[in-house]
Amino acid sequence: MQSLTALRLLARPAQCTLFAGRGMSARALSNSASRGFATIEPETVKQQQQQNGLSAAAIHSSGPLRNDWTREEIQSIYDSPFLDLLFNAAKVHRENFNPLEVQQCTLLSIKTGGCSEDCAYCPQSSRHSTEVEASKLLERDIVLDAARKAKVAGSTRFCMGAAWREVGGKKTNFKNILDYVTEIRGMGMEVCCTLGMLDESQAKALKNAGLTAYNHNLDTSREYYSKIITTRSYDERLETIARAREAGISVCSGGIIGLGESEDDRVGLLTTLATLPAHPESVPVNALLAVKGTPLENQEPVKVWDMVRMISTARIVMPKSMVRLSAGRVRFSQPEQALCFFAGANSIITGDKLLTTPNNEFTDDQLMFQTLGLIPKPPKLEQSSCGCGSSDNELKHAVTSN
Ligand code: SF4
Repeated sequence: MQSLTALRLLARPAQCTLFAGRGMSARALSNSASRGFATIEPETVKQQQQQNGLSAAAIHSSGPLRNDWTREEIQSIYDSPFLDLLFNAAKVHRENFNPLEVQQCTLLSIKTGGCSEDCAYCPQSSRHSTEVEASKLLERDIVLDAARKAKVAGSTRFCMGAAWREVGGKKTNFKNILDYVTEIRGMGMEVCCTLGMLDESQAKALKNAGLTAYNHNLDTSREYYSKIITTRSYDERLETIARAREAGISVCSGGIIGLGESEDDRVGLLTTLATLPAHPESVPVNALLAVKGTPLENQEPVKVWDMVRMISTARIVMPKSMVRLSAGRVRFSQPEQALCFFAGANSIITGDKLLTTPNNEFTDDQLMFQTLGLIPKPPKLEQSSCGCGSSDNELKHAVTSN
């Protein structure tokens, strides 16, 4: 039951410098409320915080893991004053991760080009006139050698990408990929694949082969999606994500900014991801690298402010997910990348190429790690059984127990 006196006392600090500023975190306010007045409801604390001028980023930077976010809540976090958003995202990051640890993933295109899909940003689509040539699945030795080299270079996760609409009908290639997965897992690395749509039996086979994570991005909001891809529906993407999760594989799913979408679309994408039954274990935030010959070749490069706003919001609404600074990193200077890490990005893709587009030089990344005091995140070889990527399944438990 709420105490009226308590509410009045909480209301009074509007004149008190200790309470009035943005400097007081939601958690501090909540704690001070609970210390003196244990019966104050969280909603009341939030109303009080709003009256005290706290931004939505500050208000939502504490509390339980949630998957019931509203689009309005995420919009208000996204719209928070930049420095306040950055500060609170950094706080959430520190509460959930060692902020110095950054996961290094190496991505290898094991089957390049000739894809039947029409993703407007992708040079591998057979519908666009780009310089990318179609090739067959890479041979075993080439793939395993690349994985060994990636491990020596410090990568703990090896991701294999194939330019396919779906795995279905590619029996021999799929069998080979299962073999690659098992071999690479045997090297002590996490293994990820991105192979297009999966059915249930393919997801199970990948899990049995030792796959750690399956990447399947949503790309953008449901509303903007049809401007970017017409050959595969948003729901089909969600179904593949669900199948990977059901098979017990961690889900890696995020999107791309700079496709011509509005800020509302960026919020829409984050809302879909943050309201999945369990948050993706990793959330790649890509900045479009416009490629000549694709329908998006003339798009303006993404500004770092947009990238940081996206990363910060993702960090606050999905506090336990790895947030991956992915494609487009090559355009950002090291100080700009430092801002992304401060905002909560804790994973990068290393390797000379990101499938077919350029990536940062290995030596530059090493220097950046040294300058920023970053250390490689060790691999996590044990997985949850539900594919949420959390060893303690917090959200799943929270959801199922409600
Ligand atoms: S993004 Fe993937 S599915 Fe889309 S065209 Fe490129 S390779 Fe094909």
